[in-house]
Amino acid sequence: MIQFLDIKRLNAPYDTEIRTAIAQVLDSGWYVLGKQVAAFEQEFASYCEVKHCIGVANGLDALHLILRAYGIGPGDEVIVPANTFIATWLAVTHAGAIPVPVEPEEFTHNIDPSLIEAAITKQTKAIIAVHLYGQPANMDAIRAIASKNKIYVIEDAAQAHGARYHGTRVGGLGDAAGFSFYPGKNLGALGDGGAITTNDDQLANALRKLRNYGSVIKYHHEVTGFNSRLDEIQAAILRVKLQYLDKDNILRRQVAAMYLNKLQDADIILPKVLDGVEPVWHLMVIRSEQRSRLQAALTEANIGHLVHYPIACHQQAAYAENTWPKLELSEKLQNQVLSLPIAPYLSENEVDMVANVIRKNLS
Ligand SMILES: *Cc1c(COP(=O)(O)O)cnc(C)c1O
Repeated sequence: MIQFLDIKRLNAPYDTEIRTAIAQVLDSGWYVLGKQVAAFEQEFASYCEVKHCIGVANGLDALHLILRAYGIGPGDEVIVPANTFIATWLAVTHAGAIPVPVEPEEFTHNIDPSLIEAAITKQTKAIIAVHLYGQPANMDAIRAIASKNKIYVIEDAAQAHGARYHGTRVGGLGDAAGFSFYPGKNLGALGDGGAITTNDDQLANALRKLRNYGSVIKYHHEVTGFNSRLDEIQAAILRVKLQYLDKDNILRRQVAAMYLNKLQDADIILPKVLDGVEPVWHLMVIRSEQRSRLQAALTEANIGHLVHYPIACHQQAAYAENTWPKLELSEKLQNQVLSLPIAPYLSENEVDMVANVIRKNLS
């Protein structure tokens, strides 16, 4: 049996260090906004090669608070990928603004820069670029459009911790970036967690207030803020795991290379990597018109598999009241994509098992 993602196995190499880190926090008697969060913020900022990191409660809040900090709200529009996890859209909705979907590039599934300008109006305030499956979006093109139109570029880096685009780490490719540390992400906590990275001093100050009731000095509230904080235990765990993130990402790359090699002549569409980009393979997403047959075969062989994502955001019940343009490519992708198990711990033997099931079951 191969699970889609075995989080216990993922964290097993760090078990002793994680337990020690948790015990330290327990013994400290300080559990919210303390030394662990401050240290993690410094370490993650330095890892992402940016000036600031602000820990928050989760990835959705990270994106939502960035929009709030920029004063984006009712009457504003934000360009989002049509093909993404719902959180990208929800962040915009929660800020009171309108998500304006743009179709993906067929070969990377990331937002297609050539379609962005047509979606920009006088109300557009920002573009959220998602680095889907761990592959950075086409940021040069996105930034060029944004600067021409004087709008912000926000990265949704929830699937791409450590990835690089033309040498620059994600988290430093736009005006600000939102990260998630949900347990299954490339850098995962043992619960919820998130962070924002930015080089903008003013934005960082605004975010430190927004995450903590609008307050820097206890009981002095400058703005109507939120309660969205990374807690000390999760920060201590993340400090342990951050030390191994590059090593884990290298292992993911090796597993991805094995898949690409073993499936190269199979009649499926394999993921493609942009030139000058170092993806971190959060997901291994293949495409096939025979998806249901492959799903059945994988299930039969006791191999975990998922679809990211089975229903496009604009077709979700949550967004049924809005009217959306036709988003044909996103709808087509939702019916063809299939995510295979990928993790740093996967052995060549296990990748072989998965690849063999795929190859044998294509007609
Ligand atoms: C996981 C994820 C998020 C949200 O992160 P949470 O911590 O679960 O709130 C946002 N965007 C993308 C693309 C994600 O994969």
